[in-house]
Amino acid sequence: MQSIFFEHPASTTAMAMLLPHCRSDTALACHTVIIGAGPAGSAAARKLAQAGVDVLLIDQHVLGRDKVCGDGLIPDAHQALQHLGLLDPVMARARQVTHVGCIGPRGGRVDVPGNLAVLPRKELDEILTRGAVDAGARFMASYRFEGVLEDASGRVAGVTIKHGDQSIEVRAQWVLLATGANSGPLQMAGLCERQAPSGVALRGYVRAPTLVGKIPNMEVIWHRAIRPGYGWIFPAPDDCFNIGVGVTDSHRELRNSKGVKKDLNLRTLFDAFCQHYAPAATLMREGRLVGDLKGAPLRFSLRGARWSRPGLMVIGEAAGTTYSFTGEGIGKAMETGMLAAAALVRAHSRDTLDDVQVRERYEQDLRQLQPRYDQYERANRINGTPWLVDLLIWRAQRSARLLQRMSGILSETSDPGHLVSLRGLKNLFLE
Ligand SMILES: Cc1cc2nc3c(=O)[nH]c(=O)nc-3n(C[C@H](O)[C@H](O)[C@H](O)COP(=O)(O)OP(=O)(O)OC[C@H]3O[C@@H](n4cnc5c(N)ncnc54)[C@H](O)[C@@H]3O)c2cc1C
Repeated sequence: MQSIFFEHPASTTAMAMLLPHCRSDTALACHTVIIGAGPAGSAAARKLAQAGVDVLLIDQHVLGRDKVCGDGLIPDAHQALQHLGLLDPVMARARQVTHVGCIGPRGGRVDVPGNLAVLPRKELDEILTRGAVDAGARFMASYRFEGVLEDASGRVAGVTIKHGDQSIEVRAQWVLLATGANSGPLQMAGLCERQAPSGVALRGYVRAPTLVGKIPNMEVIWHRAIRPGYGWIFPAPDDCFNIGVGVTDSHRELRNSKGVKKDLNLRTLFDAFCQHYAPAATLMREGRLVGDLKGAPLRFSLRGARWSRPGLMVIGEAAGTTYSFTGEGIGKAMETGMLAAAALVRAHSRDTLDDVQVRERYEQDLRQLQPRYDQYERANRINGTPWLVDLLIWRAQRSARLLQRMSGILSETSDPGHLVSLRGLKNLFLE
């Protein structure tokens, strides 16, 4: 089993020695090259390597990079980690949580039960990438994706990556693009349909030993002062809390797909959140901010990019796999990585490129997920409608069935869109 980390390549000669499929000093080869070692890319790499596929995983950052995220692991993430055989190492480090507290603009609160956990992405993603390497994938850090290579027919035949002045061609039968929410790589691969993100969010880590146990649940807070967004406080390991604000529908789309940011400032929303939500104010007062507050874009609803082209598939948030309404996407990123890997493994076992079948199988799997994304898109109306949040919380405090339905949203057994449908609203008073 090979275990190779390239963080700072000393020389291309050393690389040629360590990578057996190298064709020359500035060209590498493998069966599948994956760009992006987040949850999507590492999950796909682990599955492919386990099936004996020669896979090369590449990221622009070194292992243990700090991804801006709320770090919440909802049931779909637990399931994906279980499929990957990595749930135990993740849970050994994560802060386990049993409820999400939903707090409405008028201060009402309901605690929704769920199988939840919080682990900073720095650690989660390192466990995932190491999991891929342990399975036999090769990993190259500090290389930036610059564009795709095409054969004479226009089929993608690899990628160009860059480290400093050094440019390398990686020839591959398949490319998986797992580059997350930034549209740049999608544009370079000719697959971007919408440059503007679907939402934006900002988070910070606060170390506050005196508050450990006092905020035991993940908390999501809606308040008029942070409309049309919401705030959160998630208890993390090591006496820390992840605190942040997020806004869906952050950009107006223009005809050229570029989009402009609406009149909102995440830093101002964050300050308003800390001013109006007492536990956030206490956290900031009693705790110590570790590092900076950082913002990042999100891409929702399986929209904004083509999912594939001959020789290439897009996985994870680059394909818009994050849920609208909640902004959760770690689980679905891993899930789509594994779906693409499954499509490739099938073709690999038959030793065929099988472009049409591989892509069709993957896209069909994504299409099956689409209705669920549409439900979240509908439910997203809740974020901009404070009275509806208050009503839902007020009813859930009195109805075990509604509370169960809200818990079912976390575990994907009930339809979040139903909460805002006419029938759903009527049921609020009947359940
Ligand atoms: C503030 C915030 C809070 C969030 N909270 C949650 C939450 O609590 N729970 C949840 O489930 N989801 C949450 N999300 C969403 C979640 O972060 C994403 O759904 C998830 O990270 C998607 O995983 P991915 O592997 O597709 O992409 P990413 O995790 O973004 O990974 C992409 C990788 O590609 C690399 N890359 C990008 N461009 C290049 C390039 N040109 N060359 C080489 N490498 C490149 C990056 O370095 C990165 O490692 C949140 C998002 C934000 C912004």
